[in-house]
Amino acid sequence: MITIDGSMGEGGGQILRSALALSMLTQQPFRIDNIRAGRTTPGLMRQHLTAVYAARTICHADTEGESIGSTTLVFKPKKVTPGKYAFAIGSAGSTTLVLQAILPALLTADGDTEVTLEGGTHNPFAPPIDFLRRAYIPQIARMGSTISIDLDRAGFFPSGGGRFVVRVTPAKRLSPFQLLERGPIHAKRAVAVISALPRDIGEREIKRVIKRLTFEASELEVLSLPADQGPGNLLMLQYDCQHCSEVFVGFGMKGVNAEAVADSAIDHARHWLAGSGAVGPFLADQLLLPMALAGGGSFTTTQVTEHTRTNAKVIAMFLPLNIRIDEQAQASRIDIDMQ
Ligand code: AMP
Repeated sequence: MITIDGSMGEGGGQILRSALALSMLTQQPFRIDNIRAGRTTPGLMRQHLTAVYAARTICHADTEGESIGSTTLVFKPKKVTPGKYAFAIGSAGSTTLVLQAILPALLTADGDTEVTLEGGTHNPFAPPIDFLRRAYIPQIARMGSTISIDLDRAGFFPSGGGRFVVRVTPAKRLSPFQLLERGPIHAKRAVAVISALPRDIGEREIKRVIKRLTFEASELEVLSLPADQGPGNLLMLQYDCQHCSEVFVGFGMKGVNAEAVADSAIDHARHWLAGSGAVGPFLADQLLLPMALAGGGSFTTTQVTEHTRTNAKVIAMFLPLNIRIDEQAQASRIDIDMQ
């Protein structure tokens, strides 16, 4: 049984989600202690419990410690069974983070899977749907699996109520690949999304984009979603390059003004634009696991975070791989190969 200290490195939910994904895939049981010890509310929250439940259901696992607030979990997987599933968080917890736990095992399962997820779709500190669709999924497609996401309705934190359907057509084997350069930017977009809030918020965010980044009028949009999906607001900056796309978001929150929301997305975009690594820090930590499943590959990033370093450690506990991280100011390089 693999034993994981959930307080190591980043000390957050990603350690648990990666362990679930890797356990399903490699069929190795694990025990994790000190779950989310690095967070102000340690232990399993609803979103993490839904991830455990989803993983357990898909691979008929036996578990111990699967309850709210639990800081220890034992997970003993059996065969991954593709098919049709639906999981609801029952709060505004992030559905995309639940997906992060179960998707890797579905990429090489022996059949197609359709999963409906209900809860938050646009949460702070989680990948928004647009990021998965435009930045993450195209890279997985390069490895051989096909994924589509249909968003039925957005669910913003703290109300939730969002729903989307993910369809996965697996590959027999994922192919290793290299992503060392982003290549020239051939398209870009800035979209301020608004639901049940004054349109002026989106317009001010777009003004801020004009002030701090280079965008043409035709690349800017204020998008109003139906009021029953709100209240919610986010600013999304999307860059399509020759070899990858990146998406940076700022999430609207009560008490945070529109300019500050825009600035958080703009700061991320400017940091990435100033570097020469292919992907930004979020895509970097999320690409690691699929690349490890492919048995190897290399990519460059503008920033190596504690999330990335911690994820590399968790992956190395389950798979016989070397993950080398060469940190440099402009472009850090990550290489994965078999031991
Ligand atoms: P944790 O903090 O351990 O729950 O993990 C959060 C996960 O969400 C990590 O994989 C992050 O890369 C991802 N994430 C957080 N914020 C964003 C964002 N703005 N865009 C894309 N991914 C994000």
